[in-house]
Amino acid sequence: MALTITDECINCDVCAPVCPNQAITMGPQIYEIDPQRCTECVGHFEEPQCVQLCPVACIPGHPQWVESQESLWQKYRRLQLAPVTATTQPLLPPRPLLPPRPCGAPLLAKEGS
Ligand code: SF4
Ligand code: SF4
Repeated sequence: MALTITDECINCDVCAPVCPNQAITMGPQIYEIDPQRCTECVGHFEEPQCVQLCPVACIPGHPQWVESQESLWQKYRRLQLAPVTATTQPLLPPRPLLPPRPCGAPLLAKEGS
């Protein structure tokens, strides 16, 4: 099941950066979890990272989002394939492209050459 944040949240900002699915954002009053993106960390970690770190234990299961382990895996796979939109961040940062080099050329130019 997806998780949710209760109104005991103290807005400490610990959970959002550790969520591997970018499911946690600041809401009008407190932090919120998008149940469409929360996989309980399935596919990334053994345990939900937000639950592990929350200092006030205010992240229970979402009562309206009961999902099987298989459903959570399907959600994880869907998120890996989902296009990035204006409201979501890429799941992995893009890798910088190396400049092209002629075949056989050394990786680094020798000093003085
Ligand atoms: S359980 Fe994992 S995926 Fe779900 S909100 Fe917490 S950190 Fe994000
Ligand atoms: S870690 Fe807990 S208290 Fe801190 S912002 Fe997240 S839900 Fe709120």
